[in-house]
Order: sequence, then structure tokens, then C-alpha cells
Amino acid sequence: MECLATSRGRGGAGTPESMRGLLLTLLLLLAWQPAAASVELSLNDASISLGPYLSIYRDADGSLDVTDVLENDLPWERWHKESVSLGMDRADFWFRLEIDNQTPFPQQRLLEIAYPSLDKITIYQIRSGISDKEFVMGDELPFSNRPINHHYFVTPLDFRANETQTILIHVKTEGVLQLPLTLWEERAFAAYDQSRQLLAGMYFGVMLVMLLYNLFMFLGVGDRSHIYYVGFVLSVPLFVSSLMGYSFQYFWPDAPAWNGKSIGLFLTATVLFAGLFTNNFLELYKPEKPAWVRQGMKTMIGLICLMFLTVFLLDYNTMLRIVIITSVLACASALVVGVHGWITHQVQARFYVLAWSALLLGGIILAGNKFSLIPQNSFTDNAVQIGSSLLVVLLSFAMAERINNEKRKRYRAQMQALQNERKARNAQQEANRQLEAKVTERTEALARANATLQELSARDALTGLYNRRYLDELLVREYTRSYRHREPVSLLLLDIDHFKQFNDTYGHLVGDDCLRLVAACIEECANRAADTVARYGGEEFCVVLPDTDLEGAEAVAERIRQRTEKLRFEVAGKLVPITASLGVACHFPTQVDAAEALLKAADDALYSAKDAGRNRVACAPTHGATNTSDA
Ligand code: GH3
Ligand code: MG
Ligand code: MG
Repeated sequence: MECLATSRGRGGAGTPESMRGLLLTLLLLLAWQPAAASVELSLNDASISLGPYLSIYRDADGSLDVTDVLENDLPWERWHKESVSLGMDRADFWFRLEIDNQTPFPQQRLLEIAYPSLDKITIYQIRSGISDKEFVMGDELPFSNRPINHHYFVTPLDFRANETQTILIHVKTEGVLQLPLTLWEERAFAAYDQSRQLLAGMYFGVMLVMLLYNLFMFLGVGDRSHIYYVGFVLSVPLFVSSLMGYSFQYFWPDAPAWNGKSIGLFLTATVLFAGLFTNNFLELYKPEKPAWVRQGMKTMIGLICLMFLTVFLLDYNTMLRIVIITSVLACASALVVGVHGWITHQVQARFYVLAWSALLLGGIILAGNKFSLIPQNSFTDNAVQIGSSLLVVLLSFAMAERINNEKRKRYRAQMQALQNERKARNAQQEANRQLEAKVTERTEALARANATLQELSARDALTGLYNRRYLDELLVREYTRSYRHREPVSLLLLDIDHFKQFNDTYGHLVGDDCLRLVAACIEECANRAADTVARYGGEEFCVVLPDTDLEGAEAVAERIRQRTEKLRFEVAGKLVPITASLGVACHFPTQVDAAEALLKAADDALYSAKDAGRNRVACAPTHGATNTSDA
């Protein structure tokens, strides 16, 4: 991020080399003052910011060595600002400053360059015009070269009593050249550095906790956005620690070549994971998102993947420019899609925007500080760390919120499903009930219809009495029953006398009326519940009398005969006499299937009644009676 701010600050990143040199020389000339004031050491100075005391010489082709610098009268330019920031310039730079120990004691000081990404720094202590001590360090050299084990460049300088010393600093770097120079009294440095390391420790501690927290969340919940987030939370502190020189100090002190690539690599990884996370977290891949969001996201992720190639294939300078531009683009797109999500009421987008704003604010504060718009202090120095910690913590909240949301949604869906199921079940039960009711109703109707049909099929249409078919069945049934119960069963056969003649005289319709009248008359006479009257055919009727002996049957027959005789049937105001002849038979059944014999006996008796002159009752002798009484 420091690189990022500075690159934008310098603005001339794309200017050709020669133009840059010219511009810088012009700048230095404008700031030119004949002689730089010397730094005065006293007994009670804690730290001195050395920017305003510096003179600078730009060695365009890098051909000078320390002897050349000391022996030639170079056009040194006075640097008049607090911070030294020269952007990306491949030229060598020489910095000179005079330090005057005004005390009568020897003094020890620490010279700190609080910018760890310089390729090669050589510091010369010049005494009496010649180089007395040299310190060589830089992130292109093994870490062990450094005189003091620190993530920044810290060099011990000694001053004799009342001595004025010249310090020459030779810097060669491919990336951004910044030179935040401070001369520290040793105890003051120790005190300041302690709080600085404490802050850094806190920062990395927070990151570690978030890393573990999200790793466990991923293992527990299995949400893919968590693993992207783990990648992100791993890359961010690795990037910051590379940027601040901690990685070089602790992880790979003997691998300066790798160290040169690590910043670009971790920044690219950070941006890639941020992109993957954003895509997953804001669900940008979903079809309901507008095409520009989906396509834009895909393009962005593709672009970031290409950045990995630039890290390995291109030189540091070009790589840094590409990586920084892509990162700025990615950061801006992240905010745009976040705000879009917020506007379209995506709950998790609010936290997301808030989180990115925190990081952006950190970046703005840092840039403002680099442009000297905001004064430098430990807050502005750590703005990016604070911003990125806030980002990481807020995004974790956002993810927890999302899990909660999902849970709520799932619970609601479950409740809905349960309710639907219950409704469906009730509806099914209701339908079944209705179906059952309908089936019962239809069955009853059918049974009624069947009963009616059966009744109709058992009845004679003209007289309403039972018909011949029914009589045949009934007779067999009653005969069998009487056989079982050893009871007598009697049968009467009635035939209206001279009915043919009646019909011929009065017509069939009147004959029908007469038949109905006689039928009603017979039914009146056979009044026991078990007695059954049926129309046997034509003008013949039959009466079955269960549990009735011959005597009883004859009495019934006689009663019918008399009543028939007394019927008053009028045709055209004239009384027409009606008489009938009856044959009676009675069986004490000796075998179960002799119903026909009973009928035959009654029929024979009827014939004898006819033969005997009509309008009379004739009885057949009782069958099986003696046998039964004997038994
Ligand atoms: P008998 O005294 O010997 O019985 O003389 P009959 O004339 O009654 O002789 P028979 O029993 O042979 O005659 C039956 C007559 O009954 C024939 C027919 O004209 C009449 N008949 C039969 N069925 C019906 C009917 O359903 N309606 C009417 N109106 N007449 C019928
Ligand atoms: Mg007849
Ligand atoms: Mg007759």
C-alpha cells in the first residue's frame, strides 16, 4: 500500500527516463540552497528527522563510487522537505549529510531508514575526507548483512567528542525510492521501537486469530466463501509483513531473490482471494445479477490470474506498476459491486461495503500522509494495518451474519414446508372423507335400487301380488323349512269360474279390474303374517299357508270362496256375479324336495272342484300326516 500511494503521488510513473531526470533536476534546482545546515548533536536530543538536512545527487548511469563522490565537486542539490520520496527511478542516488557532535563527549546514535524495500544501501562514515566505515545492506542482500537485526535498516553510528562527520548514503533500487531517515538516541529508539513492535504484534495477532477462526468456521460450516476468506486473511498479513520487512527478517532471511518477488506475489494473492471471496459472498455468479456484474467479475478474476505471470516473468519495476494498477481497479470494483448489492437490498453487502471502506480510508490516510496533507504519527503510519484489521474483522461479522441469515431462511422454509405438508394432509383427509361419504351414499342408493328392483321383479304388475317366479322360490323355501321344523304346510289354488266368458262379454280391461278385486279379496282373507298370496298365472291365484294343517287351510279356502261370491262387481250399472273354485292340499313333508307334489295335489283338488260344479272348495288328502303323528 505504501508503494501504491507513492506511485500515485509521483504521478510520473509512465514518463520516459530522460524526461524524469530532467524534471527531477529542475525540481532540485528550484529547491537549491548553497549549503545544507549540519545536524547538531546535543546531550538531550532523542530523535532527529534528517530529511531537511540532506543533499542529493542523482547518478543517472550509476558509474560513481565513493572516491569519485568525495574527490569530485558534484552539483549536490539541497533537499528541503521532511520526507524523501523519489518515486520509481532506476538511477543511483547519493545522499549526503553533515553531523556535528557539539558535545565534549563521544556519542552513539542509530541511523534508521524506515523503508525496507530498498535493493541496496551503502552507508559511509566519512572522517577527514576519507571513508572510515562502510555498512552495506538491502533487500537484495542476505539479511545477515545488516549491522543490527531489525526489519528496517538500522545502522549504529559513533561520533567522537566535538567531531563533525559526513555521512554518505548510496541507494540503488528498482522499486519506489523512499528514504525516511531518522537519527535516534539509542534508548529513545528502544522505547519507540517497543511500542511499534507491540502494535505490529497486535496486528499480526488479530490476523492470526481471524485466520484460525475462519479456518475452523470453514471446517465446521463448509461454506466455500470461508476458504476464500481464509486465503485472503492469510495473504493480507503476509503481504503487509513482506512490505514491512518482517517476512525477510523472520521467514526467509537468506533468500533475497524470493523476497523481491514476495510483495508482488502476496499482493496478487490478496487481490485474487478478495475477488473470489467477493464473487462467492455477494453471489455475483447468480443469474439474477446483471450481466455487467457477472462478466466484470469474471474478467477481473482472469486479469488477477494473469498478474501471477507478471510477478514471475517481468522485472520488478514493471510488475509493480501492473500489480498496483490491477489492485486499485480490483478495489474500486469491489466497492462498486458492494454498493450495487447494498442498493439491491442484499443484506450481507452492507457489512461488505463498510469493511472495504475501512481499508480504503486507511489507504487515503496513508496517501494523505505521504502528500503531507495529514501529519505523520503512529496512527497514520499504521492506518493501513488498522484499516485491514477492521476489514478482516468486519468481513468475519458479515459472514457470521450471512450464516445466521441462511439459518433463518432455512428455518422459515422448513416451517413453510411443514405447514404445507399439514395443509396437504388435511386436504387429502377431507377428500378421502368426501369420497367415502359419496361411496356410502352411492352404495346405499344402489342397495335401495337393487331392493326396489328385486321387489319389482317379485311382484305382479296387474295385481301387486307376488308373481309366479317368487312363488316358486318361496314354496321351496317354506317347504324345506316345514320339513326341518316338522310342521304342516298347506297350499290353496284358486281359479275364477268361467272367466274366459267374462272377458269375452265385458272385455279384457274389465276382466283386469275384476282380477284386481279378487286379488285384494284373497289378501284380506289370508291374514296371518306368514301367509303369502301370489298370482299363479292368468286368473289363477295361489296361497301358501305355513304351519297350517288341512283343516285350517280348508277354512281359509272356504272364507275366500264365500267372500268372492259376495263381491259386488258392477259393470255399466249391472251387478256381475263372481265365483271361484279352490283346491286345497296339505303336506307334513317327509322329504325336503316335494314342494312340486304339494302344488300338484292342490291343482288336482282344484280340478275336482271344477268338475264338481265350480264355486266350491275341494281338498286333497293330507300327505304324510299319519307318519308324523305316529312319529
Ligand atoms: P273355468 O270355469 O273352467 O275355469 O272356465 P274359464 O273360462 O275360466 O276357463 P279358463 O280357466 O281356461 O279360462 C281362462 C281365461 O281367463 C282365458 C282368458 O280369457 C282369461 N284371462 C287369463 N289371464 C287374463 C288376464 O290377465 N286378464 C283378463 N282380463 N283375462 C284373462
Ligand atoms: Mg283357469
Ligand atoms: Mg277359470
